[in-house]
Amino acid sequence: MIPFLDLGRLNRPHERSIQEAINRVVQSGWYILGREVDAFEQAFASFCGTRHCVGVANGLDALTLVLKAWSFPAGSEVIIPANTYIASILSVTLTDLTPVWVEPDPKTYLIDPTRIEAAITSRTRAILPVHLYGRCCDMESIRAIAKHYELTILEDAAQAHGATYRGKKAGNLGDAAGWSFYPSKNLGALGDAGAITTNDDRLAAKLRALRNYGSAQKYVNDYVGHNSRLDEIQAAILSAKLPHLPADNERRSTIARRYLEGIINPAVTLPPADQIDQDAWHLFVIRHPDRNALRSFLSEKGIGTDVHYPTPPYKQQAYIHYAQLSLPISEQLHREVVSLPLNPALTDEDVTLVIDAINQFDR
Ligand SMILES: *Cc1c(COP(=O)(O)O)cnc(C)c1O
Repeated sequence: MIPFLDLGRLNRPHERSIQEAINRVVQSGWYILGREVDAFEQAFASFCGTRHCVGVANGLDALTLVLKAWSFPAGSEVIIPANTYIASILSVTLTDLTPVWVEPDPKTYLIDPTRIEAAITSRTRAILPVHLYGRCCDMESIRAIAKHYELTILEDAAQAHGATYRGKKAGNLGDAAGWSFYPSKNLGALGDAGAITTNDDRLAAKLRALRNYGSAQKYVNDYVGHNSRLDEIQAAILSAKLPHLPADNERRSTIARRYLEGIINPAVTLPPADQIDQDAWHLFVIRHPDRNALRSFLSEKGIGTDVHYPTPPYKQQAYIHYAQLSLPISEQLHREVVSLPLNPALTDEDVTLVIDAINQFDR
């Protein structure tokens, strides 16, 4: 049996250091916004190469708080990719902004920069590129457009811990970046956790207040804030796991290379292998015209798969007023994608079994 993802197995090598981290917090007698959050923020900012990291409660809040901090007029437009996890879109609509959906590049599945300019209006204020599946968007093109139209860039880096683009880390490629440390991410907490990275001193200070009731000083509230704090236990766990992220990503990358070389089924479309930048390989996503048959076939062989994602966000009931939208590239991806097991807990034999099974599938 090869489960798509076994979180217990993923955390087993870290069990001792996680226990030590938890004990340290329990004994400290300080559980919210203390030394552990400070230490993790410094370590993660340094990992990303940014001046600041602000820990928050989860990835959705990270994105939402940045958009809130930017205080665009209600109804301002934010350019977003049409194929992404719904949290990217929720951050836009929860701050009374309007998502403007842009098709992905059919080869990389990432927002297609050549389609962005046509989506810009006088109301556009920001671009929200999502480094989906662990690969950085074409930031050179996106930055050139943002500069020309004076737009800010909010990276959704929730799937891109450790990914690089032209030598710089994800999270340091725009004006701010939202991170999630949901347990299944490349750097995962044992519960909910998130962060924002930025080089903007004023934004970082405002975010520190916004995550804590809009207060920088106890009982002084400058903003209508949220309660969205990263807690000490999760911060301590993340500090214990962060040093292992590069090796974990290296293992992911080795497995991805084996899939890229070993899978030769002509009906399967593999992700592009021409990568000059470092992919975080959060997910290994292939395409097949009969995705459900492939999934059943693999499942009979004990191989777990998942789909990221089965339904475009604009076809969800939550966004019913966008249901008339027709974005054929995004919709084809949503019909055909399958995610294979890809995580540091897989053995070489597991990887061989997955490759052999896919090559045997002949529909
Ligand atoms: C996981 C994820 C989020 C949201 O993170 P949470 O911590 O679950 O709120 C946002 N965007 C993308 C692309 C994600 O994968």
